Amino acid sequence: MNTNQVKKVVIAGGGTAGWIAAAAIAKTIGKNLEITLVESDEIGTVGVGEATIPTLQYFHQLLKINEAEFLKATHGTFKLGINFESWRNKNEDYLHAFGTTGNDCWAAGFQHFWLKGKQKGLASDFGDYCLEQVAAVKEKFAQLPNNGLNYAYHMDATRYGQFLRKIAESCGVNRVEGKISDVNLNSETGFIESLSLTNGTEVQGDLFLDCTGQRALLIEGALHTGFEDWSHWLLNNSAVAVQTESVETPKPYTRSIAHDFGWQWRIPLQHRVGNGIVYCSQYVSDEEAKQTLLNNIDGKPITEPFVIKYRTGMRRKHWHKNCIAVGLSSGFLEPLESTSIHLIQQSVVRLLRMFPQQGISEDDVEEFNQQTRFDWETTRDFIILHYKVHNRDDTPFWRHCQNIDIPEGLAHRIKLFKNTGRVFRKNNELFDDSWMQVMIGQGLIPESYHPIVDNMSDDELKRFLDHIKSNITNTVNALPAHKQFVDKYCLIK
Ligand code: FAD
Repeated sequence: MNTNQVKKVVIAGGGTAGWIAAAAIAKTIGKNLEITLVESDEIGTVGVGEATIPTLQYFHQLLKINEAEFLKATHGTFKLGINFESWRNKNEDYLHAFGTTGNDCWAAGFQHFWLKGKQKGLASDFGDYCLEQVAAVKEKFAQLPNNGLNYAYHMDATRYGQFLRKIAESCGVNRVEGKISDVNLNSETGFIESLSLTNGTEVQGDLFLDCTGQRALLIEGALHTGFEDWSHWLLNNSAVAVQTESVETPKPYTRSIAHDFGWQWRIPLQHRVGNGIVYCSQYVSDEEAKQTLLNNIDGKPITEPFVIKYRTGMRRKHWHKNCIAVGLSSGFLEPLESTSIHLIQQSVVRLLRMFPQQGISEDDVEEFNQQTRFDWETTRDFIILHYKVHNRDDTPFWRHCQNIDIPEGLAHRIKLFKNTGRVFRKNNELFDDSWMQVMIGQGLIPESYHPIVDNMSDDELKRFLDHIKSNITNTVNALPAHKQFVDKYCLIK
């Protein structure tokens, strides 16, 4: 136990990670702390990261953020899921929506009822039994009471940083502009004592958050914490991003379009669209990827396309000594399921829960690292699933993905689902219904269903399935169009 009380918190980096951490710490436990954030205007931020998942709503509730104000400030729209295009087979789609599909009975999940229904010709597509999926396809949206639509947001990443900065500064966070040149360690403990900036300023602290993005100046540059490389499971290592003018009303979902060597995202905001392509440099050059992206956008580009290189994996320890890595400094998982901002939030909330005001204890550090590892590994496996299970054997890239040896836990989940239709959520992990939606969406149809379904006659099963579907259809038909809702609720001036 390091008995030094934590009074001074230094956040190195002012991207989405830095400002999320600053706003959350300042707003919740900041009264007795001195919080400084150092960022370099010259270096800037990564400039992407615009699609989110529903947990952002709960994080905003913690910060007492007004949703309409947030959406106006970030030019945001609502997101009900991700449409995966050409992933299972070329020119076939499915939507991974944020809601749950159908109704469960205690013994068996809805998929078992659907499976028998499908075999008997009584059921339609799996997604037709999910409220969010049907609303997304029909481009409808409203905030419904009583666990209505589960939703997330699309937002402008730069504006989001500015929005959080205002909150953080209003709660007393001190922003220092400058470039960090040195990270100074205590020669006995190896703890970080201060950051030196190129302008001669020195920023001292008790606890340091490394939010310096892929540079990882503190956790790796100074503390040499080590990196666990996962690129043998997830081949992609590059992205090109470009923003375009909007030429259609914004859809309430992200698009993920598979190409021969990777995939492309489209994130519709109120005023523009965020686009990018994620790829593996072993199978395509940066120039060819850029051309593919530019050939597959709708509006006029409003930014220059820029290439981002990355390495998939994570730090061996997210918390080491008196430094916690948050955001891209802690590792990288491709944005296929928009999980990166969620992982930032998780780390920040975990830190709030374990805040070491009385000094840093090794037990806290160990617990923090174990929990964070679990989050990262389950998210990683969920992403690998998309690359492993599909029928795309038409290009070397997709064949390579299909033939990769996957982590044991994921192999077990896939086998269990294939043989029995069973899928279980483990230790409160992030993804629940999503496992099933993606496995079925990617073309994995279980070979058997739970015997409890046979207690229903075919007529009863048909009534059960039709009832769920018609309830969803009626609810969705009564909703306003997504665009109409946005215009009324949070349209930018
Ligand atoms: P950065 O934005 O890189 O910020 C780093 C900060 O550190 C900057 O302020 C910089 O100035 C500062 N800094 C660095 N070095 C120094 C120095 N020497 N001195 C002073 N300051 C310094 N996430 C999602 O949730 N959804 C998505 O849709 C999504 N899409 C993505 C697409 C791509 C192609 C990529 C690469 C990432 C995507 N992400 C997405 C991830 C998301 O962008 C990041 O998690 C998020 O932006 C946080 O980044 P960051 O703050 O860690 O790093």
